[in-house]
Amino acid sequence: MSVEKSDMIVTVLGSGTCVPSLERSSCSVMLEVGNSKLLFDSGPGTMRRLLRANTTIFELDYIFYSHFHPDHTAELVPFLFATKYPDMGQRQTVLTIVAGGGFEDFFARLKGAYGNWVELDPGLVDIIEMDNRAADTRQLKGFTVQSAPVEHNPESIAYRITGAGGRSVVYSGDTDYSENLIALSKGADLLICESALPDDLRLQGHLTPSLAGDIATRAGVKKLVLTHFYPECDQVDIEQECRKTYDGPLVLAEDLMRIEVGL
Ligand SMILES: [Zn+2]
Ligand SMILES: [Zn+2]
Repeated sequence: MSVEKSDMIVTVLGSGTCVPSLERSSCSVMLEVGNSKLLFDSGPGTMRRLLRANTTIFELDYIFYSHFHPDHTAELVPFLFATKYPDMGQRQTVLTIVAGGGFEDFFARLKGAYGNWVELDPGLVDIIEMDNRAADTRQLKGFTVQSAPVEHNPESIAYRITGAGGRSVVYSGDTDYSENLIALSKGADLLICESALPDDLRLQGHLTPSLAGDIATRAGVKKLVLTHFYPECDQVDIEQECRKTYDGPLVLAEDLMRIEVGL
C-alpha cells in the first residue's frame, strides 16, 4: 500500500454560487502547499466552512481573488473585521491578497464604506495585483503562481499554482470558453474548473460540463474537478455531460471535499 503523501491538498469550501444553499456554500477553495495555506475566492459563508475544515482565519497566508463578484469576494469584509476582534489578535503574519488589476481600487472603495473596521494594523496586509491583460508570474512563499486573463469580467484571471515538488493546480474562477485557460492548464495535475450550468442552459460568461471537459482534454490535465454549480446542475447528470468531451479522472465538487493533488 502506498503511503505517499502529496505536498498539495485541496479542500473545497464552497461548490456553489450566489444562490443560497445549505449543501453548496458560495465559491471558495483552500489549497495547502508546503507550509502555506491559500484561499481561492471567499464567497459568503467561507469562514464557517473554513472552521468545518479545522482551519481558522489566522492560519491563511494568501487569498487569491479570481474576480470581484460578491459570491467570490463578499466574505472579505467580515474576514477583516473578525481579524480585528480584540480578544483574538491572533494574526501575527502578513495576509497577502492576490487579484487581477483593479483590486487596489476595489479595496479602497470597501475601505471608503467600512473605514477602519476593515483596516488591519500596518504591515499585516499586502496586496499583489497580477496583470489582467496578459500572462503573469510571481514567485511566492514556497510556490509559483502563474495567472492568465479569462472570459468573464475585465479583472478576471485564472491561477496556476506550482509547488516545490512540481505538482500543479489550476483554479479557473468564472469564465466562458477560454484559450488562455487551456494554455495555463497544460499538463496540470488538477484543474478546478467552473461548470455553472448544464449544457442546455449555457449562460454567456460561464462554462457547462461539456465545455469544461473540452478544456480539460485540450489541456491534457491529469484530473478535473467541476465546481460552481447553480441549483439546475443538481437536476441533471453532470458527469454524463462532461463525458461527451473528457474521459480522464473526474470529480464533481462537494463542500468539504478533500483532494490530495497528484495521487
Ligand atoms: Zn462571476
Ligand atoms: Zn461566480
